[in-house]
Amino acid sequence: MNISGFEYFSPRSVEEASQLLLEKGKGAFVMAGGTDLLIKIRRKLLKPAVIIGLKGIPGLDKISFNRKQGLTIGATALLSDVAHHPKILRHFPAIAYAAKSTANTQIRNMGTVAGNLCNAAPSADNAPTLLAMGAEVILAGTQGERRLPLDQFFIGPGQTAIEPGEILTAIFVPTPPPHSGVSYQWISARGKVDISAVGVGVMVTMKGKVCSSAKIALGAVAPTPMRARKAEKILSGKVLSSRMIEKAALEASREAKPISDVRASAEYRKQMVAVLTGRALSEARQRAAKG
Ligand SMILES: Cc1cc2nc3c(=O)[nH]c(=O)nc-3n(C[C@H](O)[C@H](O)[C@H](O)COP(=O)(O)OP(=O)(O)OC[C@H]3O[C@@H](n4cnc5c(N)ncnc54)[C@H](O)[C@@H]3O)c2cc1C
Repeated sequence: MNISGFEYFSPRSVEEASQLLLEKGKGAFVMAGGTDLLIKIRRKLLKPAVIIGLKGIPGLDKISFNRKQGLTIGATALLSDVAHHPKILRHFPAIAYAAKSTANTQIRNMGTVAGNLCNAAPSADNAPTLLAMGAEVILAGTQGERRLPLDQFFIGPGQTAIEPGEILTAIFVPTPPPHSGVSYQWISARGKVDISAVGVGVMVTMKGKVCSSAKIALGAVAPTPMRARKAEKILSGKVLSSRMIEKAALEASREAKPISDVRASAEYRKQMVAVLTGRALSEARQRAAKG
């Protein structure tokens, strides 16, 4: 890859990185795995004056799990680390599956879940599951740290709520309540050679046969990953029968606002939202029943 013309910094702490970001101004970009950033530079969509690599910051790749609180995924934890982490596989299998559903082995060995979110593509494979599970991002700047619900993080295609000088240092996912089930479903025309044409992440929490809470998140069918809140409302407090699942899946399809592009037509995407939401809800119900 022939790309040049920028200064490269490898800070040793988040404070140093965020100070550099502020000092260098608009032409400065943070880089984790570079699997999105370097492609954009190569295609001349971006011309950074400065790149600030995060991978030299000790501890930023940490993944930790605490049963009471939840899961923390550090900013430089690789997609492959998340896909294969024993505790994530055991306690958050849908998160591991979403990471494993991202790109191919080579990309997963370079790219990060945090980079996937910060890139803010509507199709980001890791966003729907994390949204459905009520994840938060931890953002650090020179003035300190703040936590932001992932719900409020995506503000447009390629745009996030990150302020100048801020770095996403970790993603936090609360432990789901008892009797919850989570599922991620995706479809793409050419398997994982291509990015997802539609992705659906779902979390349901059950009280016996009744769904006490449902969260449904859709990818690649709106300018940002989005919650299907009307569909969620349909299920709340209802017996999670196949008929109710179908009703909610159709409502999610109505809420989606897809466009037609090289990957799929808007009509196809709408239909696939209904199909994948139905599948995700059924799988989540099954997982919740298994505990
Ligand atoms: C061949 C190929 C296939 C792909 N397939 C898929 C796919 O199937 N599904 C999918 O969702 N994506 C796919 N991608 C996109 C990409 O690989 C992922 O989005 C990846 O997770 C990005 O992570 P990264 O660490 O490489 O991010 P980078 O490229 O390093 O960064 C991406 C963006 O986020 C910013 N950034 C990164 N980390 C931080 C941080 N901690 N704080 C603040 N800003 C930050 C960067 O400045 C940049 O703007 C594919 C890419 C390629 C090249």
